[in-house]
Amino acid sequence: MNRITDAEALRLFQSHDLNAIGTQANTVREAKNGNAAFYILNRHINYSNLCVLDCDFCAFYRRPGEEGAYELGLAEIVEKAKAALALGITEIHLVGGLHPTWKLAQYIELLRALQALDPRLHLKAFTATEIRHFARRAKRRIGDILATLRDAGLGSLTGGGAEIFAPEIRKQICAPKETADQWLDVHRTWHKMGGRSTCTMLIGHIEKFEHRVDHLRRLRELQDETGGFTALVTLPFQPANTKLSHLPGPSGYDLLKTLAIARIYLDNFDHIKAYWISMGMKLAQVALSFGVDDIDGTVMEERIYHMAGVQTPQQMACAELEAAIREAGRDPVQRDSLYRPVSDFS
Ligand code: SF4
Repeated sequence: MNRITDAEALRLFQSHDLNAIGTQANTVREAKNGNAAFYILNRHINYSNLCVLDCDFCAFYRRPGEEGAYELGLAEIVEKAKAALALGITEIHLVGGLHPTWKLAQYIELLRALQALDPRLHLKAFTATEIRHFARRAKRRIGDILATLRDAGLGSLTGGGAEIFAPEIRKQICAPKETADQWLDVHRTWHKMGGRSTCTMLIGHIEKFEHRVDHLRRLRELQDETGGFTALVTLPFQPANTKLSHLPGPSGYDLLKTLAIARIYLDNFDHIKAYWISMGMKLAQVALSFGVDDIDGTVMEERIYHMAGVQTPQQMACAELEAAIREAGRDPVQRDSLYRPVSDFS
């Protein structure tokens, strides 16, 4: 199938023929992944919401001493991971704010302590934004930071911080954050070291369809260059408790259409993920017929979306995930962090 152009992608965004877009996305999805729908047994740990930035779309960050501010200690994080391991997880997903005082050595100690629990446990940790923060504070190069963290147990990078790449949007919703090129360069560096990562796109705030196309184009170009992305995660903006709380956030219709267009446009990506925590399991089930082949995982505790008022549960048992996938007519496949099927982790 020929790769679609940016102009064609924009026309799809402007179209209201959701059925036709969904059908095309489903064809691509089934060609790539058959009837499989992936999920992972994972445990999210948001280690702290202390952050030196104050992105307008974010309800998670706090300044030290502010109501709702928290940071987890090493022992507490290890305990959470240990309890989750006993339930059979294969991955820890670890992200937080840009902590004002933690030193690189603390993150290294944290990764080492988690890895020591079980060498098979995959540590998916840190956004490109966090990596740049660590590098800035330690006055070291990005590649050097990534190599140091990898030696301590970092398995793959998370995809957060991408938001929307277009500078005119970035400067309005997250002005002090890195530029698109800087974000992409962290992933490029990691991919060239042999690492894998996910990427994200935050939709439904002030961006226009053109900005989404621009965002997808930049991701597709980097994927052409490195092949290091495992999946795109499209994140619906949640306005509650943010500086943009006057905005409505994306509709289910918009979200489905965007997932489907991403599936059609990103022909060099193997997987398109619907993060059920952010959109609800009901819509995630429908998305499995609109280009999506992955609904993320058990999660177990989530703070970033829940501080923005999301009402979804914080965890889902393996049996519930499988039942939701089966009900949508797909075959559930438990995967590891690199999308290899997991039959037994015990
Ligand atoms: S989005 Fe991330 S960097 Fe921005 S304020 Fe929230 S926690 Fe900090």
